[in-house]
Amino acid sequence: MSLPRFLIPYLRDLPAELLPLVEQIADLAMDLRWTWSHAGDAMWKIMDPQLWELSENPFVLLQNLSHERLQALSQNRAFRQHLDQLVNARDGYCSCGGWFGDVYGDAGLRGVAYFSMEYGLGKALPLYAGGLGVLAGDYLKAASDLAVPVIAVGLLYQEGYFRQMLDADGWQQEIYPYNDSSSLPLRPVLAHDGAWLSIPIELPGRTVQLHVWEARVGRISLYLLDSNNPLNSALDRGITGKLYGGGEEIRLIQEIALGIGGWRLIEALALEIDVCHLNEGHAAFVTLERARCFAEKRQIDFREALWATRPGNLFTTHTPVAAGFDTFPRALMMKYGQPYVKNLAMPVEALLALGRSNGQDESEPFNMAYLAARTCGSMNGVSRLHGQISRSIFQKLYPRWPQHEVPVTHVTNGVHMPSWDSPWADEIWTHYCGKGRWLGSEEALAAEIRKLDDAALWNLCGQERADLIRHARQRMRVQLGQRGADAETISQVDRILDPNVLTLGFARRFTAYKRPNLLLHDHDRLARLLTRTDRPVQLVVAGKAHPADNEGKRFIQEWVKFSQRADVRSHVVFLEDYDIALAQEMVQGVDVWINTPRRPWEASGTSGMKVLANGGLNLSELDGWWAEAYTPDAGWALGDGHEHTGSGWDAAEAEQLYHLLEDEIVPMFYERDASGIPAAWVALMRTSMAHLAPQFSSNRMVREYVEQLYLPAAAAFRQRTADGSTTAQALCQWDAQLETSWHEIHWGNLIASREEHGWLFEVPVYLGGIPPESIQVQLYADPVANGAPVCETMQRGGEMPGAVNGYLYHVRLNTPRPCTDFTPRCIPCHPDACIPIENHLIHWWIGNITLENC
Ligand SMILES: *Cc1c(COP(=O)(O)O)cnc(C)c1O
Repeated sequence: MSLPRFLIPYLRDLPAELLPLVEQIADLAMDLRWTWSHAGDAMWKIMDPQLWELSENPFVLLQNLSHERLQALSQNRAFRQHLDQLVNARDGYCSCGGWFGDVYGDAGLRGVAYFSMEYGLGKALPLYAGGLGVLAGDYLKAASDLAVPVIAVGLLYQEGYFRQMLDADGWQQEIYPYNDSSSLPLRPVLAHDGAWLSIPIELPGRTVQLHVWEARVGRISLYLLDSNNPLNSALDRGITGKLYGGGEEIRLIQEIALGIGGWRLIEALALEIDVCHLNEGHAAFVTLERARCFAEKRQIDFREALWATRPGNLFTTHTPVAAGFDTFPRALMMKYGQPYVKNLAMPVEALLALGRSNGQDESEPFNMAYLAARTCGSMNGVSRLHGQISRSIFQKLYPRWPQHEVPVTHVTNGVHMPSWDSPWADEIWTHYCGKGRWLGSEEALAAEIRKLDDAALWNLCGQERADLIRHARQRMRVQLGQRGADAETISQVDRILDPNVLTLGFARRFTAYKRPNLLLHDHDRLARLLTRTDRPVQLVVAGKAHPADNEGKRFIQEWVKFSQRADVRSHVVFLEDYDIALAQEMVQGVDVWINTPRRPWEASGTSGMKVLANGGLNLSELDGWWAEAYTPDAGWALGDGHEHTGSGWDAAEAEQLYHLLEDEIVPMFYERDASGIPAAWVALMRTSMAHLAPQFSSNRMVREYVEQLYLPAAAAFRQRTADGSTTAQALCQWDAQLETSWHEIHWGNLIASREEHGWLFEVPVYLGGIPPESIQVQLYADPVANGAPVCETMQRGGEMPGAVNGYLYHVRLNTPRPCTDFTPRCIPCHPDACIPIENHLIHWWIGNITLENC
C-alpha cells in the first residue's frame, strides 16, 4: 500500500528503520474501522495518551508523533504485539466472505451505491449535522461488517457542521471549524493516468471540476466530492463549503454535485452498480444521470433508459411532514435544468414534471422527494409508524389509490452497536455472546444475554455511570474555564454529580417538535424530584439548536439557567457541543434515556437505541422506533399512541412524565435487595438488552435492506437490461399507450347476483385502444374493523357480441359483506411492471349496482 501523500513531508527525515512501522500504523489509521474498535482505542492511547485524548484521530496522532516516541515504540515489545494483533485482525476482517458472501455470494448483487448528504462516522471526519448523518455512518459500518458490496458517495465540506459554545448567559454561539483535508483520514483518488481524479459537472456558463477523495470504512469505500479545487472559480470552490450552509441555489448545486457528479464518479471508476440507494431525497438527481448514461451507452432514448434503470433505484425517506422535503422554485430549476436537458433529448418541462405531484401544474415547485418517487423502483420509511405517515404524505402522487396501497414500505432504523457500546458492555457481550455477535441471529443473542446474572448487570451500570461522571466533570471544567469562571467555581466541579445516583440523559437537536423543555414544564417540581435526599436523581443534558432557530436557543438557555439554580446545581449539567463523541459518553453512562418528541414528528429516532447494548432504559414518547419497540417489561412509554395538537396536550404529557419518574422509575431504582441490587430494575435491563438491542442494531437493518429491497431490485434491474433492454423498451411502449388511451376505458352496468355464500359480480368493460392484456380489472372493498381490504382479480370472459374490444369481467366471492361494499376498478397490468409505483393510472367503476336473485 502506498503511504498517504500528506505524510510525506513528515516522513522526509524519518530514520529508514522506522518506515515499516509507520506504514503499518498509517494503514490502520487510515481505516475508519478503528472508530468501532475498543482494542484499537487502547493502542492509540498507548502511543500517546494526550494526543489521543485531544484528537481522537489516529491519523492526526501519527502526524504529531515525535521520532523519539516512534523509536521507543518500535522497541516496545508489548506495543509491537498489540499492533500486529490489530493488523492481523483487520486483514482477517477484510478478507473473509462475511455474512453476505456466505449467504448471498451467488445471488448476483454486484454493487450498491449509497448516496447521502452527510456521514457521521466519528470525530475524525466531521461531515454530519445530526441523526441522518449518524444513521448513514452506522449503515456503512454495518454494511462493512456484513460484507455487503456497498460503495458510498458524499461531499467533502470545507467547514463541518458548526460547533457549539455557550456564552456566560447560556446563549448558543456557533463556531465553524475548518476541515483541513491534510489531517483527515482521506486519500485522493487517482485517475488511470495518475492525475487526481476530477469529475466535471456542467453548470450554467461553466464546467466545475470536483476532486475525489476516498475514506475507508472497513471493507467499504466512501467517495467524497470536493469543489475546493484551484481549477474552479473562487465562487465554485465554495460549493462544497458548508453542510446545509448556503442559500437555496447553493443547496441545489450541492444536490447536483452529489447526484449527477456522484453517478459520473461511478462511471469514471467503472464500478459495477445494480442498486442506487438514496438516503433522503437530496441525491435524487442520480436517477436522471444514471438513466442518461444508460441511454447513451445503449443508444436508446431517455424514457426507455429510465424504465430500464428505475427498478435499480431505492429511495429512503426520513421526513415525517411534507414541509420537510427539499423544493426548488421553477426559475431556479429552469436555470439549471436547461443546460442539462440538452443531453436528454427531452423538453425541460418534461424534466420539471418529474418533480411535481401534478406534472401539468407549472406553479408547483420542484420537489426532490417527488423526483425520487417518480424515478425509484421502491420507497421506504424508517419505522413502522413512519411508513404509515409516509403513505399519507405521498398519497398525492397516487391520486385515487387507497392509502394503504401507496407504495411506501418501511425498514426500521438501527444503530451500529460496536460503535456505541461501552468497553464494559463490550466485555460482557463478548463473554456471553462472542465477538461476532452483531452478525448472528437475533434469537440466539437474546437467549444468551438472558443468562446474565443480576450482579453482572448491576456492576455494568455502576462502571458505566462512573465513567460518564468522570467525562462530564472534565467537560464542565473546560466549559467553565472557557466561559471565564473563577478557580473556586471550577474547583467545585468535583462535587457535581454522584456515581451512585440515578442518572437521566437527554440529548438531541433543540427544536420545537422535540419538546426539549417538556421536563422543564414545572421547574420546582423537577427540582424536588432531583433533590430528595433519600432518592436523589441527576440529569445530563446536551444538544444544539439550528443557528437560525432562536426558539431552540431559548430552550437551551432555559436549561442552562435551570442548571445554575443553587438547589439543583450539583444534580444537573448541560454539556456543550453535542456530537458523536459526547453522545457515546452519554448513552454509555445513563440509566434512563428520555425522549419527548411530538408524535408523529420523530420519523425513527436512533439515540434511544444507542443505550440498549449498554443496559440503559428508555422513557420515550410512543413515536418513531419506540412505537414498535415498547413493551412494559423493557422501558416506559409517554403519550397514548395517538397524535394530538395544542399546548394542553403538552401539559398532560409533562404531567405523565413527572408521574412516571416520581412514582415508578425513581422508586424502582432505589428499591434494593439484601445485596444492594434493584431486582425489578435489573430485570428491565435484561429484557431491554436481550430483546431490543439485537432488533434495533444496524446489522438487522442492513440485512433487511439486502433481503427485502436490494436483491429484488438488482434482479429486476438485470431483467430489464438483459437482451438489449427489450423488456424496458416494451414497458416504455406499454406505458405510452396506456397514457394516450386510458381515458377511452369505460364501464357497463355492474350486476351483483346473490349466491349461497356470497356474490357473483359481472361488469362489461370497454377498453378502447388498450389491449386487454395491458390492464387488470379488480373488485375492491375497503377494510372493515380490523380486517384486511379485499382485492380480487376479475376474470375476463370472451369478447361481447357487438362490442369492439369490450369484455364481460366476472368474479365469485364468498363473503358476508353487502355487495355495495365492492367496487370494480381497472389498473395497469404488465408482468414486469411494478404497480402503482411505475404507473399509477386507476379507473374506478361508478354507477348503480343491479341486483339479481335478491
Ligand atoms: C444518534 C445521534 C443523533 C440522532 O439522535 P435522535 O435523538 O435520534 O434524533 C443526533 N446527533 C448525534 C450526535 C447522535 O449521536
